[in-house]
Amino acid sequence: MTARVLVVDDTLANVKLLEARLVAEYFEVLTASSGREALDVLKTQRVDVVLLDVMMPGMDGFEVCRRVKQDPAIMHLPVIMVTALDQPTDKILGLKAGADDFLTKPIDDMALTTRVKNLARLKMLNDEMLRRLASGTKFGLPAPDLVPWTSMEDVGARILLVEDQERAVQRVMAALSKVHSVDVLADVQGALAVLGEKPYDLAIVSLTLESADGLRLCSQIRSHERLRHLPLIVIAERAQDARLLRALDMDANDYLLRPFDRHELLARVRTQIKRKRHLDLLRTSVDASAELAITDPLTGLFNRRYLEANIGRLTQSSAAGLPLSLLLADIDHFKRVNDVHGHLVGDRVLREFAERLRRLMRGSDLVCRLGGEEFVVVMPGAVLEEARHAGERVCASVAAEPFQGSGGAQLRVTASVGVATLCGRTDSVEALLQRADVALYAAKREGRNRVVSDAA
Ligand code: GH3
Ligand code: MG
Ligand code: MG
Repeated sequence: MTARVLVVDDTLANVKLLEARLVAEYFEVLTASSGREALDVLKTQRVDVVLLDVMMPGMDGFEVCRRVKQDPAIMHLPVIMVTALDQPTDKILGLKAGADDFLTKPIDDMALTTRVKNLARLKMLNDEMLRRLASGTKFGLPAPDLVPWTSMEDVGARILLVEDQERAVQRVMAALSKVHSVDVLADVQGALAVLGEKPYDLAIVSLTLESADGLRLCSQIRSHERLRHLPLIVIAERAQDARLLRALDMDANDYLLRPFDRHELLARVRTQIKRKRHLDLLRTSVDASAELAITDPLTGLFNRRYLEANIGRLTQSSAAGLPLSLLLADIDHFKRVNDVHGHLVGDRVLREFAERLRRLMRGSDLVCRLGGEEFVVVMPGAVLEEARHAGERVCASVAAEPFQGSGGAQLRVTASVGVATLCGRTDSVEALLQRADVALYAAKREGRNRVVSDAA
């Protein structure tokens, strides 16, 4: 999907110029000629990045930016402020308004593409994570506490600066060391070693080191398993430097040109730190919600949803001639356990039952809780007879050893099992489950605590 950029400028010629350049880079472009119009567009259209002129009659760029960053519906939208040349006060005001980056007029092509690409990628990654989280919540999972990336903490980061020019080191330290912890190294080998050891949030690497190759370090970082996603800002001498282009090709996240301005440095660092922290947070939430989405919280077994999503794949691979059987187990008179001993004891029996079931099955078997006191085991490679033996082991193990009741009491439990096997290429998953269910029902009818095989 291409990123959509909203260009806001009151001068039509500027809008046209930016539009042409962005379209040439395959961005989709929307335009607005005033702050009000920009806010209207943002209300009705999907936008991934805003390029915002500072000087506009009526509502100026700072005010537009402030409003964007205060509106929960669009506050995660990246805003790039377009300022006049050498106006450090504009940058300070922009940072205060919540701007994510700056471009100075006249706008350099490479700077434009880098900033827009950078922030568009950030926005899209963010949206993708949100979609994955939202699809988790559709299945009845609690919505995780989500904060937009823009409101992530941006202090207390661990930054490694790889630089040997004293002035640049001093400038970075002056700007960053009060709120972040910054380590400085001048050699590439040492840098790679500490990056491997300590959990840094950002690396800033000079491409013009006297005695080493900063570009090589960038490439080593990007090919390192654990450092692949480390935010990386490079420092270059000139905008059209071939080495800078190589670094950006290697996915350096951003760059600074010497002599760099303190506010620019602050904005770039801030964006990278927030971006990293937000992605870390989203990754953890997505992992946790993915885990929740496929497992049954009471027993830790896979749930029905996981079974439904995977049984097709399992039966397909066995369509190639390998057998596959299914075991359906249901605890007998479980309602009585609840009625007599209470729900908590019932839950404990379910957990213990699940544990025994898991222990009795092979590693390649898929053990799921279908719901209530009903469990299913998909057994790839097992013929009906093997499934039947497994079922008998389940019945024996459940009946032989009492379960924990309340206050140390012992509880006698039995279970009934139905087994069925996949018959030929045309057999369906639904039919298989249905036959196992019929067999289970027969086991109940014939007196419980037994296994019945499907006769088909
Ligand atoms: P049968 O031998 O015919 O299977 O009888 P049964 O009592 O086991 O079957 P029935 O389906 O009538 O009752 C199942 C009971 O399982 C009813 C329900 O309250 C209980 N149950 C379902 N889910 C849970 C749970 O998560 N925890 C507890 N404690 N009980 C549950
Ligand atoms: Mg039951
Ligand atoms: Mg039941």
